[in-house]
Amino acid sequence: MKRFILILGLLSISGKAFALDIVYPSYKAVTIGAASSFFIGSADTEKPLTINGKTVPVHPSGGFAYVVPLNTGKNTFQIKSGTEELTYTIMKPPAPPAGNYKPPEFKEFDNLKYAAVTTDRAPLRTTPEDFGINRISHLQKGMQLVLDGEKGNFYRVILGSSKSGWIWKGNIKLVENGASLAELKGYDYVDTDEFFIFVFHFDRMTPFELIESSPFLIKFYNVKDYPDNTYVMDFPVEKSMRNGKLLGYSGQFSGTDFILKIRKPLIPDEKQPLRGLNIAVDAGHGGSELGTTGCLGDREKDVMLKFAKELEGELKRRGANVIMTRKGDTAEGLNERVDLANSENALLFISLHGNALPDGKDPNANCGTSIYYYYNQAKPLADEILKEMTSQLGMKNDRVRQQSFAVVRNTNAPSILIEIGYMINPSDNAKMITKEFQKQTAKAIADGVENFIKN
Ligand SMILES: [Zn+2]
Repeated sequence: MKRFILILGLLSISGKAFALDIVYPSYKAVTIGAASSFFIGSADTEKPLTINGKTVPVHPSGGFAYVVPLNTGKNTFQIKSGTEELTYTIMKPPAPPAGNYKPPEFKEFDNLKYAAVTTDRAPLRTTPEDFGINRISHLQKGMQLVLDGEKGNFYRVILGSSKSGWIWKGNIKLVENGASLAELKGYDYVDTDEFFIFVFHFDRMTPFELIESSPFLIKFYNVKDYPDNTYVMDFPVEKSMRNGKLLGYSGQFSGTDFILKIRKPLIPDEKQPLRGLNIAVDAGHGGSELGTTGCLGDREKDVMLKFAKELEGELKRRGANVIMTRKGDTAEGLNERVDLANSENALLFISLHGNALPDGKDPNANCGTSIYYYYNQAKPLADEILKEMTSQLGMKNDRVRQQSFAVVRNTNAPSILIEIGYMINPSDNAKMITKEFQKQTAKAIADGVENFIKN
């Protein structure tokens, strides 16, 4: 008899895993400005779940996502599962009065101003906005710039005699003495097993742009004795690279020399295409950076580390050297992750994430895998991997997209960020937390990498 009671006790403890649990909104009283929000969480699949009397479908895994429209003012929600009941309130503030915002106007300077860049990796942009894929290049600390106007928080930067860019005011300091044009004194070419290396000798640092096209172009602006004050060199990718495919490059000043390194084409091993290749695997978030939370309460940082370890194993079995940007539950900076991969001479960079959505969207209507890249050289890698993930895993094709995420703004290696699935979508989430799916995903990604290397 005693034994029987003990078993019953265990059953009721394990049943607790299905207790009603809300992971989003994060608090019982929140303020949200969107037209709608959603409840994400888990509940007992055997009991009816309702929100304000309306039935909420519960996925067999116990997860649910439910969109609620919001009215201005206080919105109260009664969430019931069996005898459990929770109350949430969402305040929606009134919309701000429209029509008062005036966008900043462009002001051209009467006299040119001069500036020095005060930080490394300062983005030189095509438009005066800190947003999107509008980066021309990343400038180094100490580079001198000539400015002819301003708009809002940006200065307009002269690039040769027919082009301009924009730099955020916080990335430069104004200086008294103006820079004249830079002088290019010549260049050297160094041939190594791995790289084509060009060293351009200048008398000072000057703004530049690297353009992934065929041919690959390098432009130096504000250079004396060249048309448009612009020196252009092209590199014939199609002739020099297998299949005309770039496999990573870097260009930056070292002192007053500009060093351009372009990775040479690979000759992959026929039987084991990944043998000997350095591949960086980046488990998103970590430590205090939790990432998103899945319907059943799993943290993105933990789930991604599991995917990353499976991928590490799969790539190693195929002969690759794997560089893990984190091996445990640690918070690594985004630049540090990229720097580590570059210092280990990674040929590819793959970042793993789980997706979420902002208020106003529908987590039931969004599912599947999306892959982000920034530089064009990485798009074929994204395409190959997405093809394998959709066909092998049955994930919905949520598209390859170009986006300015820090970890994919790296030219040294084709770099991508995979949103494996939506952790707030009950069906995607249920798959993503199983070891079987994590293993299959690792295989699909590795197959995609192999196709990229082979083709
Ligand atoms: Zn993430």
